Amino acid sequence: MDITFLGTGGAWGVPEVNCDCLICREMRRKGEKRERTSILLKNQTTLLIDCGPDARAQLSRHGKGTIDGVLITHEHSDHYIGLDELFAYKRNCPRGSFEPIPVYLTPHTHKVVRRRFEYLEEMEVIRVCPIEPGRWFQAGEFQVLPFDTFHGSFAKGSVGFVIRFRDLSGREVRMAYTSDFSEIPDPPKVLFNPEYLVIQAFWLNEPMENRPSHMSFQRGLDFIELLKPGRETFLVHMGDADMVAGDPANTALKKYEPKSPLRPPSGGEPYPVPLNQAQWQETVHRIISDRNLPYKVTVSHDDLMVRV
Ligand SMILES: [Zn+2]
Ligand SMILES: [Zn+2]
Repeated sequence: MDITFLGTGGAWGVPEVNCDCLICREMRRKGEKRERTSILLKNQTTLLIDCGPDARAQLSRHGKGTIDGVLITHEHSDHYIGLDELFAYKRNCPRGSFEPIPVYLTPHTHKVVRRRFEYLEEMEVIRVCPIEPGRWFQAGEFQVLPFDTFHGSFAKGSVGFVIRFRDLSGREVRMAYTSDFSEIPDPPKVLFNPEYLVIQAFWLNEPMENRPSHMSFQRGLDFIELLKPGRETFLVHMGDADMVAGDPANTALKKYEPKSPLRPPSGGEPYPVPLNQAQWQETVHRIISDRNLPYKVTVSHDDLMVRV
């Protein structure tokens, strides 16, 4: 099974349009980018999780073949506005052989998505499959359990997914996929001790004001310790909203002071805010090893492909 990280950025991607902060500057200098977060699971079945505004570019790179299903986490544009790109799978299918692509979403998310994409249903590009938190469903070879995630009152249909599949050795494993969230109100038992965890790290440090309800790496650490992923954790949906010492762009609306920035357990200065991919991975390694945590945490990046 291949997991491809198509995009790993927050709602507006990084570097962000019209942003000259030190993080965006450094990323431009290094030619790094994070498109909107979306992943592709590929074995006999190909499953796409979220389909944002970068879907065209992402699927051009990694979406050759068929898509057997799309899971949508919630009704925010960065997670569904690319659904029209699925038209290409119908257009390029031999005449008469196309089956509408199942799109799995909660009824609330569907209400929002339908306003924009009802024609995709009418033209049989997609087939809507309503899902319900707490109820397993089958998408090709994948068994999927949606569970409620809290992502503020402006995202009522927000869910994460426990996805069960067989790894390379034929063993049944679980991946816990969380998208934008700040709490998991009623975590199902099967969410604990997964082999893999995908979790957002919108900031390194928890900001003074957590709006609009996202997960920082700092708080994410609590979830990693709670859920105890056995093999590997991947950070996604990363942004540029941490304040960086001495950055004139710290006055921007999106930049909040950290509440109490991460520091080594022995005390001392906070960990510097990472500006690029290598610094992110190094910082995460340091934090994990300074705390003696037994977890492998990978800072994902666009086009990262992991075979499991
Ligand atoms: Zn988002
Ligand atoms: Zn969102």
